[in-house]
Amino acid sequence: MSMLPIARPTLGEAEADAAREAILSGWVTQGPNVEAFERAFAQMVGARHAVAVANCTAALHMALVALGVGPGDEVILPSHSFIATANSVRYTGATPVFVDIEEGGYNLDVAEVERAIGPRTRALLPVHQMGFPFDPRIFELGSARGIPVVEDAACAIGSEVQAGAAFELIGRPLGAVACFSFHPRKVITTGDGGMLTTNDPALDAQFRLLRQHGMSMNDLARHRSATVVFESYPIVGYNYRMTDIQAAVGRVQLSRLPGFLERRRTLADRYARGLARIPGLEAPPVPAYSRPNFQSYPVRVGGAYPLERDALMEALLARGISTRRGVMNAHQEPPYTGAARPLPRSEAGRDRVVLLPLFPDMSDADADQVLEALADPGRAR
Ligand SMILES: *Cc1c(COP(=O)(O)O)cnc(C)c1O
Repeated sequence: MSMLPIARPTLGEAEADAAREAILSGWVTQGPNVEAFERAFAQMVGARHAVAVANCTAALHMALVALGVGPGDEVILPSHSFIATANSVRYTGATPVFVDIEEGGYNLDVAEVERAIGPRTRALLPVHQMGFPFDPRIFELGSARGIPVVEDAACAIGSEVQAGAAFELIGRPLGAVACFSFHPRKVITTGDGGMLTTNDPALDAQFRLLRQHGMSMNDLARHRSATVVFESYPIVGYNYRMTDIQAAVGRVQLSRLPGFLERRRTLADRYARGLARIPGLEAPPVPAYSRPNFQSYPVRVGGAYPLERDALMEALLARGISTRRGVMNAHQEPPYTGAARPLPRSEAGRDRVVLLPLFPDMSDADADQVLEALADPGRAR
């Protein structure tokens, strides 16, 4: 029996050729391909600046450092996220303040965020979870209270959010900084990789220093210089660079993004129509302010469904369909249990949700097979 995986990156000859060309060029770390990838990315999302880095965790860490977040500060974020979101706050020595998600949804509850703001709040770190844009009122709240917003947009490339009358791609950005991931589980991939976008030239300059050991001049600038130049190291930075091999692959992936998005949205629509006919299963809500990219497809398993969530996952696996549980919660993992307040909606988001397979190379027949298995899972509870 062939298994239907939960996700599979779409990589082909064009990406392989790009990597080969980068390798044979002799320039393999941060260089001309990184520069070109940044330019294309900034232009695509409509940001003034884009800075490529090793991964999104590094991007989140650098964003907080550049905003001056440190020991004694608090950062407001969801617990209901991949653990990297919380870890990026811990790296700075600041305290993560976890806030619950919306009823029935997967993103921060705006009223709860407002209630959590205190005198030590130094940044808001909302997540566009699974590519579903968070409530844009969080941007208004940040500006009203003078607190910068860092968007964890790890999964959200290509998602759109309403800004005034128009829809904007995530990453313009509407807050101070947006951070993206190119891990293979996301919508485009470079193996590992990340990107920060900002409209603030001072932050952009800070990111360029921080990602490369605090070095005042990058290798490419030195290489291109006609005169002898010496770099300096004004701050303690990190080695968070992206390689040119990764960036070469990223440039090809970015050019294929419109096709990936169209296919993901078509499959999500097929799922939503099928799920509407199955009592007890709830498709993800899509608020009027959002156009998600469907990086993942979460389904809530309600009391009216014949199986519990775990039994449903087993029934699907027995039919060759792999699934995952809902998004984890940092406050339920050892490094963060000390600070734990109960977050009931986050806990339900992990324990009553199943993620279905969704990736561009999946066929309509694959999606229909999943829907048939959901409609008739076998054993009753
Ligand atoms: C994947 C993910 C990250 C981490 O991204 P990496 O590129 O793997 O470091 C951070 N936040 C969220 C919400 C994610 O889904």
